Amino acid sequence: MVRPSEPEFEQAYNELLLTLEDSSLFQKKPQFRKLLPVISVPERVIQFRVVWENDAGEIQVNNGFRVQYNSTLGPYKGGLRFHPSVNLSILKFLGYEQTFKNALTGLSMGGGKGGSDFDPKGKSDNEIRRFCDAFMRELSRHIGYNTDVPAGDIGVGGREIGFLFGAFKRYRNSWEGVLTGKGLSWGGSLIRPEATGYGLVYFVERMLQYALKTDSKDVFKGKRVALSGSGNVAQYAALKLIDLGAIVVSLSDSKGTYVVKGDEGFTTAEIAAVADAKLLHRDLVSLTSTFVESKFTYHAGARPWTLVGKVDIALPCATQNEVSGAEAAALVAAGCRYIAEGSNMGSTMEAIDVFESTRRSLPEGIWYAPGKAANCGGVAVSGLEMAQNSQRVSWTREEVDRKLFEIMSTCFDVCVETAKEYSIEDDASKLPSIVKGANIAGFIKVADAMTNLGDFY
Ligand code: GLU
Repeated sequence: MVRPSEPEFEQAYNELLLTLEDSSLFQKKPQFRKLLPVISVPERVIQFRVVWENDAGEIQVNNGFRVQYNSTLGPYKGGLRFHPSVNLSILKFLGYEQTFKNALTGLSMGGGKGGSDFDPKGKSDNEIRRFCDAFMRELSRHIGYNTDVPAGDIGVGGREIGFLFGAFKRYRNSWEGVLTGKGLSWGGSLIRPEATGYGLVYFVERMLQYALKTDSKDVFKGKRVALSGSGNVAQYAALKLIDLGAIVVSLSDSKGTYVVKGDEGFTTAEIAAVADAKLLHRDLVSLTSTFVESKFTYHAGARPWTLVGKVDIALPCATQNEVSGAEAAALVAAGCRYIAEGSNMGSTMEAIDVFESTRRSLPEGIWYAPGKAANCGGVAVSGLEMAQNSQRVSWTREEVDRKLFEIMSTCFDVCVETAKEYSIEDDASKLPSIVKGANIAGFIKVADAMTNLGDFY
């Protein structure tokens, strides 16, 4: 067997292609089949050397990247990831997904992604600042508020965006909306830190209401929700879920998972302790005084999915490929009927197969929402931050939150309508496939625009 040279990118490419082929899209719009080889090549890839100095005064070197994938709908837009695993395959998969995700927000944003194999863990504030400065020394030549607007992702939060924004301003002598996720006093938007987690919960709320045929705001009451991860996305998803009456039963990091023993879920105080630990780059397992043995079990080296017992909803919020086929089957067996990704490509192909075949076979069906639909709230509020920066205004919390809710709600409706319109499944009463709806809707939006612009003919 030939091993793929870019496994993550090829996975994202095949996942999209398979869902498009398993629909009537290419019968209805045969010209779009020829677009795939075009759209899957990034418009531009920038790769550069980042040389910086550690606290001991020694020279350090890392690889820096920016994949400018598609600028049809607007400036390239997408986060920067600082993690030792970062390579071109991972950034191409993320940039490809981002292109269609951004299309699903309905805002004017193209797709891009970037980052470095730099590991922020264990680095001092000064080392982070020097690294960000060195990274921006090169990146600042290639970005701008009308060209490419990066943001955060894994390993890049408010502190890093601050150092990056400061460095851009010094190198280019321009205060502009070139990054999103900025601090409030220097051009940031209210609700941006919360946006991915809140947006994920808003999307699932619409999914539950649609599935249960109700307008009730109480759809989360008493539902057991398994969450993975413990970063920004998981924290704000958990807080919103607790607010809406759900029982959050798990949180995890790369070292292990905490699961609640009974019917009392994580509390807001426990989530606040997680947030504090994360700011100090501490592992969850350090929180033994918060996560007491009478309420929680800790599972070293494990993910939550096979440990959580009966659950209604699963929200993977850690990283790519964090749900295997076997774990997906365990979730289905545990009663889970709703899966929505806060992470990008959280499910493996095998896991998606399990969810999608269960949707077809189980009488009450199952709902699987991929990251490009369910987690688009983060980049959507980034789009709103860009709009505020262009007008030099700041909207209120309520205004941004209302817009976020509307975007997530519309995104869900678009996925459902598109899935129905392009379905070739013989039994029309089957539940719509959200993953197909998301992939087809995002693809058509970019494809139509590329045709209009003469990028594809
Ligand atoms: N990294 C986030 C994502 O995967 C946000 C990107 C952005 O705000 O530009 O969508």
